[in-house]
Amino acid sequence: MKKTIVLKVGSAVLTNSNGLALDRLKSLVDFIAQLKQNYHVILVSSGAVASGYTLLQLDKKVVAKKQALASIGQPLLMETYRKHFEFHNIICSQVLLEATLFKDTIRLNYAKDTINELLSNNVVPIINENDVIAIEELVFGDNDQLSAHVTLHFGSDLLVILTDIDGYYDDNPHVKPNAKLQKYVQNVSEDALNALHTANSEFATGGIVTKLKAADFLIKNNKQMFLASGFNLSDVKSFLLENIHNKGTLFGRNDL
Ligand code: GLU
Repeated sequence: MKKTIVLKVGSAVLTNSNGLALDRLKSLVDFIAQLKQNYHVILVSSGAVASGYTLLQLDKKVVAKKQALASIGQPLLMETYRKHFEFHNIICSQVLLEATLFKDTIRLNYAKDTINELLSNNVVPIINENDVIAIEELVFGDNDQLSAHVTLHFGSDLLVILTDIDGYYDDNPHVKPNAKLQKYVQNVSEDALNALHTANSEFATGGIVTKLKAADFLIKNNKQMFLASGFNLSDVKSFLLENIHNKGTLFGRNDL
């Protein structure tokens, strides 16, 4: 049976100053099409707010306006994905979730059944937070925690987070040029988890701390997480398609 990989891509990768970064979205879809030859893929994607902003310029600092932008942008985001997946003859589907689901066994089982049905029919489920009824990831997180829960509960052993940096460094590489990329991390330190959180772009709300929290959660549940660049997919491609680990950080067990 094919293994399932959860791929999470955040707003920092999917957007530019004009809204959706279409070239990066296309590269991502082309990569998923390759990946699907060997794996089932669940995509966790942000980008709804940024898509909405291309149609209506509401003030993104006001939470309700950001929710409205997500509501406007989500169908546009899905239409963009649908067109690109269609090129590869792949069907994709929309799944909107929020954190309380993972504490509710009955609803969670419905979601699991649906995801299993989609995967066994070769569909790529595209998950985003349901921003109209929840704001956890919209305000703080950029779907990092959501994707960790998706990995744990929907039958996957590996979460791949594609972001604006090529791995996890031992110091801040933007400030310290000698900072070293760590290829393997078995434990996330308390200090790192409690560090001040900084978002990585105008549309994104995550940052390295929310990713470390996701990694910590998965390590404690005996799962793995791989953090790599979403701007240049060569490292994640060689890691997942050729089993060659150049850059990118593997959290958890030191094997794949
Ligand atoms: N769910 C939001 C979106 O799709 C997340 C916004 C963000 O923090 O990047 O736009």
